[in-house]
Amino acid sequence: MRITLLAGGVGGARFTRGLRDHLARHGTPDGTSAEITVVVNTGDDIWLHGLRVCPDLDTVMYTLGGGIHEGQGWGRPDESRRVTDELHAYGLGWDWFTLGDLDLGTHVARTAMLREGLPLSTVTERLAVRWQPGVHLLPMSDQPCETHVEVDDASSPSGTRLIHFEEWWVRHRAALPARRFVQVGLDDARPAPGVLDAITRADLVLLPPSNPVVSVGTILGVPGIREAMTRTSASVVGVSPILGGAPVRGMADACLTTIGVETSAEAVARHYGSRREPSPTRSETTGVLDGWLVDDADASAVERLEDIGITARALPLLMGDEPGADGRTATGRMVDAAFGVAAARQTT
Ligand code: GDP
Ligand code: CA
Repeated sequence: MRITLLAGGVGGARFTRGLRDHLARHGTPDGTSAEITVVVNTGDDIWLHGLRVCPDLDTVMYTLGGGIHEGQGWGRPDESRRVTDELHAYGLGWDWFTLGDLDLGTHVARTAMLREGLPLSTVTERLAVRWQPGVHLLPMSDQPCETHVEVDDASSPSGTRLIHFEEWWVRHRAALPARRFVQVGLDDARPAPGVLDAITRADLVLLPPSNPVVSVGTILGVPGIREAMTRTSASVVGVSPILGGAPVRGMADACLTTIGVETSAEAVARHYGSRREPSPTRSETTGVLDGWLVDDADASAVERLEDIGITARALPLLMGDEPGADGRTATGRMVDAAFGVAAARQTT
């Protein structure tokens, strides 16, 4: 059974790990082995000290490979900062962006391979050989397309300036009012080899609880990807990253506000749109969802989503790795709910 996910960093990584482990323990609904492909956002990528840093790819790779700092959700455990301290001694780098020594090893390895002329998708595959994530990791694109944020700047002639997403997110904690997001290079980007096939030839496509704007939204913006999502014969089921009107962690609410979408599980589903009905905010049917899982706190949204052709289910959406009395983890129950939604769609 082929399962494809479009993922950002921490939310995407944890959900994918829960999915992989759940299927290893309980199998797939059709009893075949699971082939999981994760298409990862590269909009957060950045050049630092001449090194290519791919935060979401690394978070997914470390999380699935058993090398993640669990408490932090990103980076490696047992890190040191000797290289960063040396760089600071030369007046390089920023206080707000931590790069541990072990993590830097990954960036050096990646950059070395990119410098040899290998595309990011091949580099990602080679880095993953060490981590054995148990899934196929694909960057959304081999072409760089970095998210920038337009913020107010009284000293600039235009009254605004663009800063890299990481500066807005990490340094300013998304507290600087953002006028818009600009994905530099996105229009000329192409899906990385294998991405469109992974979507159109999947049996199930999942949107994990990743940031709907700057993670999944960026992936869907790569020319051809949204179209593949509308065209695939697989069911597309998403998990809400918004529970009871707030993100579980991070500042996804600031991103949603910037693009004029309310911070609620229902509004995010409407923003993704139904594959069955034209969305009220778009002229054609460009919606990507067949199904949407909301938290119990948002159960009142289920009926309204069903009215626009999105099969919705309410269940606890806090991810956890501890099995409950039924032997399933919280994430495993979400996975089973997604299978249920897909099966319900097949019979209607
Ligand atoms: P980032 O790139 O590290 O910001 O990670 P993602 O794009 O994958 O998404 C982070 C999103 O995951 C945030 O909006 C959180 O609300 C969501 N999230 C984190 N933990 C959980 C959880 O346990 N359950 C759900 N439903 N969402 C979560
Ligand atoms: Ca990210």
